[in-house]
Amino acid sequence: MSDKLVVEVPSNILETIYAGAKELYPRESFLLLRGKKSKGRIKINDLLLAPFAAHGHGEVHFNPYMFTGDFSLVGTVHSHPSGNITPSHVDMNYFFGRVLMIVGPPFEGKDCIAAYDSNAETVSIEITAPVQCGDEEFY
Ligand SMILES: [Zn+2]
Repeated sequence: MSDKLVVEVPSNILETIYAGAKELYPRESFLLLRGKKSKGRIKINDLLLAPFAAHGHGEVHFNPYMFTGDFSLVGTVHSHPSGNITPSHVDMNYFFGRVLMIVGPPFEGKDCIAAYDSNAETVSIEITAPVQCGDEEFY
């Protein structure tokens, strides 16, 4: 595995992730990430609420087979209210897409978010300029 993955997160999307996580704290938040992948870079360009995400203590589950038709889904992001932003075994078992991102309190800045690939290896995060999102159909 030579090519290192980088995930680009527009600043406004990061703010939205943090805002949602803060709102649900101390429960977990869970969102799906939409974006594009090209040459080892994943560019996040939208967020999607997971319809079957159950918010509560412990881990969040959803059925990834619900989304197999949507190829713009590149991964998931959820919060760890404990502040430990390393993935759990359950997180890795439910790994979906290309990248798993975890956020933790105080939900600010660059140190409260981490990204992992399917081998639980850390993926670099680059915060990029804000994008417009939410009003564009995939097809
Ligand atoms: Zn988790």
